[in-house]
Amino acid sequence: MTRVLLIGSHNRDKAAELRELLRDSAWDVRSIDDFGPVDEPEETEDSFEGNALLKARYYGEKFGVCCVADDSGIEVDALEGGPGVLSARYAGDVCTYADNNEKMLHALNGVPEKDRGARFVCCAAFADTNGDSFVETGCVEGRIASECRGENGFGYDPLFIPEGYNLTFGELNPEEKRAVSHRGRAFRNLSDRLQALV
Ligand code: IMP
Repeated sequence: MTRVLLIGSHNRDKAAELRELLRDSAWDVRSIDDFGPVDEPEETEDSFEGNALLKARYYGEKFGVCCVADDSGIEVDALEGGPGVLSARYAGDVCTYADNNEKMLHALNGVPEKDRGARFVCCAAFADTNGDSFVETGCVEGRIASECRGENGFGYDPLFIPEGYNLTFGELNPEEKRAVSHRGRAFRNLSDRLQALV
């Protein structure tokens, strides 16, 4: 029998990316919407890995199924690695992607291109119903643009230029982004391990 794998994320943009990344999986991949309303857990850990595991275990235990979840964010060299695990709430507890991007541009105002290095990091966690769990990490290096460009993706995508490109993630199409992104890398590694468990 095909085993159910829940995508433990309330973020629809992210859940859509994860669904695509798990498209060829032999698991019966489901979203939170298939199971009913559930509160988001508080992300109390101070690392991407800790928060990814916390989310996968929380949603998996709520519904008694295997679960994958990720925690991700952007680390900016000129901000000493910030906003990092606080990326979603960089501009405040209730803020939009646009608020975060505006704050980032403001914080890097006058910083030259050579010092605008940054990376996206993603930790992808799997929690089994038997208590087993594991995490895979993916990163993509790049730099912060001097203005928002492109309508694709979400979050900091309009500001992030991956290494080897002159376009932002917001200007790349979803397939191009998946090929090099932190989430693509983390979930491809995770998928390889998941195949062995179906
Ligand atoms: P999380 O839901 O705690 O993992 O929050 C991650 C936050 O980091 C998101 O809300 C975005 O602001 C940012 N982020 C993570 N991955 C991406 C991405 O692929 N593109 C743009 N922003 C991202």
